[in-house]
Amino acid sequence: MRDNLNILFVDDHPLDVMIEEFELKREGLVFVSRTATNEPELMQALMEFRPDVVLCDYNMPGLSGLHAMQCSRRLRPATPVLMVSGAIAEYTAIECLNRGATDYLLKSNLRRLGPAVRRAVADVLHRQQLEDRIERLTYYDTVTGLPNLASIDQFFGHCVERARVQNCRLALAAFDLDKFRYVDEGIGRQLADQALKDISASLQSISPNPGCVARVGADQFLMVLSDIGTDLQIRPLIDRLLEVIAGPRRLAGRDLRVTASAGVALYPRDGANFETLLCHATAALHEAKDTRPGSFLFYRDDISSRNKKRRQLESDLRHAVESNELCLYYQPQFDIAGGQVCGVEALARWFRVEGKSIAPSVFIPLAERIHLIGALGTWALRNACTTMASWSGDATSAPLCVNVSVHQICAGFTPVIAAALESSGLSPGRLELEITESALLENSGAALKCLRDWKRLGVRLAVDDFGTGYSNLSYLSRLPLDRLKIDRSLIQGLSQDSRVAAVVRTVASLGRELGFTVLAEGVETTDQLRLVKDLGCDQAQGFLLMPPVAAAEARAVLEGRWAAFAQGRQLADVREARRDGLH
Ligand code: C2E
Ligand code: MG
Ligand code: MG
Repeated sequence: MRDNLNILFVDDHPLDVMIEEFELKREGLVFVSRTATNEPELMQALMEFRPDVVLCDYNMPGLSGLHAMQCSRRLRPATPVLMVSGAIAEYTAIECLNRGATDYLLKSNLRRLGPAVRRAVADVLHRQQLEDRIERLTYYDTVTGLPNLASIDQFFGHCVERARVQNCRLALAAFDLDKFRYVDEGIGRQLADQALKDISASLQSISPNPGCVARVGADQFLMVLSDIGTDLQIRPLIDRLLEVIAGPRRLAGRDLRVTASAGVALYPRDGANFETLLCHATAALHEAKDTRPGSFLFYRDDISSRNKKRRQLESDLRHAVESNELCLYYQPQFDIAGGQVCGVEALARWFRVEGKSIAPSVFIPLAERIHLIGALGTWALRNACTTMASWSGDATSAPLCVNVSVHQICAGFTPVIAAALESSGLSPGRLELEITESALLENSGAALKCLRDWKRLGVRLAVDDFGTGYSNLSYLSRLPLDRLKIDRSLIQGLSQDSRVAAVVRTVASLGRELGFTVLAEGVETTDQLRLVKDLGCDQAQGFLLMPPVAAAEARAVLEGRWAAFAQGRQLADVREARRDGLH
């Protein structure tokens, strides 16, 4: 309740006003008052005095009480009007209430006046608080307190108007936190919210106008930059904003690093309204995210057409996953000393019915981005387990390796693994899940728990593409791993740089020390095969030995004879030998 109320009396009897004032004071109300006896005085008081409550007589010689109430309602709709009059018929009182009076009191019984005014003012205050809350929910983000999309849309309208009049340029910058979904899953909602608050404070701290930053999606922010000069002048500011987002953060004793990508569209060059500029800034953002996450791009016309193609590819991939248009190829792995098959890796392939086939290096990251990797990964796991379980010969003992995306490292994937094993009948010890080194680095704490759960199911675990990240080696020793796969880039570099050989030797010896089997990926030449053997790798996988092939061919190889391989022959010879063996 306000301390000092403004009360407007609309009454032509000064004595009645005095009595009413006395009653209000007796109730303990503190107020200043003003009296209006005709319409001009009433209108002036409504405009200037801004009453919190209007107490209005019903019968006045020059002004009807109902008319006075309507004037007040029109000019100050939120201000309560209490009718205070001599005895009138009940139906008149009801009419007053129907036409908008807050209450009706008789001058002959003013004991109710104080409490009625108090209640009317409290109701208004309560309504205002609710309206403020609704306004906050409609226009502001509840986590960060920043303006939301609706709010920045309105604000941008004003900026455009001003820029048009002053003939200057504006920029709309869209920011998206890279892979924030796993931060959310990895550290939990509360800490992720804390991180978002922290990031929004950083953005505000270096934005030229803190009111121009909005949160418009789970991990998306917008910033309006007004009175900007050339593209060259904006560049350092956006770079600085990305740098600040990517800075080290410490939350609840944990180190957290989040990077962001951004896209910028300019008014009037790239569009004349918020909708078009937002669409173009977002297109530039997606392009930046796809080509170089952590960077930013200005919108250009060709970005839109590429975005269109990308969206088409996204929808084709959705369709491909739903309609089983993908298939699996299999690439055997070999024990270097003995020559026998020591595993087979399932690799997804997308041969489009129309158009060219798409490489996994394109569609796997795409599936991750559009949250389709869960469905794709589940399909790959089930399909591979069922296929392998139906083979015989060497194929009944070699482990089946299935790639697992960083997005699948979550508690929800554990029952999927159990179900795939159960329905295929494949023994858990024959399934090896491959997780890339980078996935482990991004997701350390939560990942460790998942890996332990998976290990409890009896499956094997491998680190894929090892040597591409910067693993903390003591962290590696805490992981329940069985195999370490040295990345192709290191194997390819062996012949060019002697230091690479030193790295491979160290990794191989470290892996063995930790009790893992060490496999060299991407072996393409006999020289490389010889080198990886000399450097201490146990196993090899690569085009030299066998490229990924369709299931039927892989099955024939795994069920056939492989003596020729042990003699170090080339793939063509191996195939020949296999053909000989099979006939
Ligand atoms: P990866 O798991 O490291 O698989 C090995 C990749 O190296 C495969 O590429 C394979 O075809 C290729 N490769 C094997 N030997 C050689 C060689 O001697 N030389 C060269 N240049 N390449 C060789 P691919 O099939 O294109 O797959 C690329 C990546 O896509 C895979 O790398 C894996 O990370 C991912 N991937 C493939 N299938 C799946 C899947 O079902 N789920 C998930 N999450 N990722 C998958
Ligand atoms: Mg792999
Ligand atoms: Mg690999």
